[in-house]
Amino acid sequence: MKIPPLITIAGHQIKIVTKEKLEADEAPCVGLAYTGQDLIHLARTCHGVKLNSAQRATAFLHESLHIMSVLYGLNLTEKQVSQWEVVLYQYLHDNHLRF
Ligand SMILES: [Zn+2]
Repeated sequence: MKIPPLITIAGHQIKIVTKEKLEADEAPCVGLAYTGQDLIHLARTCHGVKLNSAQRATAFLHESLHIMSVLYGLNLTEKQVSQWEVVLYQYLHDNHLRF
């Protein structure tokens, strides 16, 4: 999956910025969604190890789902977002879907 620099969700232009590494609550993480700022940060590395394309794609889907949840009022829990991240990645990957 090629991750674009800009995506549209519910009419919002969401900027995708790649950082060398990310932290949330002083713990390393692979992605962060700033819903109020229409911004997603994705990490290039985690614990000093370069993320592979599947890890970056699932992080991208995960953070996109957080923003969809807010903008569409879905109120998804962290667990639901994590489950949908896997479901969507597998669906897109296994069916070679590129719209
Ligand atoms: Zn999350």
